[in-house]
Amino acid sequence: MAEAAYDINNIFAKILRGEIPSHRVYEDDTVVAFMDVMPQGPGHTLVVPRAPSRNLLDADPAALGPLFVIVQKIAQAVRQAFGADGVTVLQFNEPASGQTVYHLHVHVIPRFEGVPLKPHTGQMEKPEVLAENAGKIRMALAG
Ligand code: AMP
Repeated sequence: MAEAAYDINNIFAKILRGEIPSHRVYEDDTVVAFMDVMPQGPGHTLVVPRAPSRNLLDADPAALGPLFVIVQKIAQAVRQAFGADGVTVLQFNEPASGQTVYHLHVHVIPRFEGVPLKPHTGQMEKPEVLAENAGKIRMALAG
């Protein structure tokens, strides 16, 4: 099966290049983490490797270890920042799976007993709420 090509102008590539804004909570040489604008719950964060790939299927295996070290770090931080009971980690590959942005990313979502996830790519959150939640996560990471 032929894989679609990586599009250098996908929205996350633009965020990584700083061409469009995001609420960043963490960045280093290999990874950037920022708030999902249509969160499935408060504190929904995306962890995005800087290296270009559409998703897990075409990613350089060498990028995956460093990526998941940061996924763990962000999962611990959102749990602490929101007093979450648990954390859901999601990752989609190609349209049939539900992927909508074609640059590899991992969803990290704080979870609370008895509270279901909101729909994937549902409603836009207010920028001030995203900014406040990003601040809480940055504090947890600093702390
Ligand atoms: P996926 O369906 O796994 O590709 O997820 C893409 C995610 O990116 C969705 O949860 C969207 O809400 C989110 N998203 C789309 N555009 C932006 C953006 N500009 N900034 C932050 N998150 C975004």
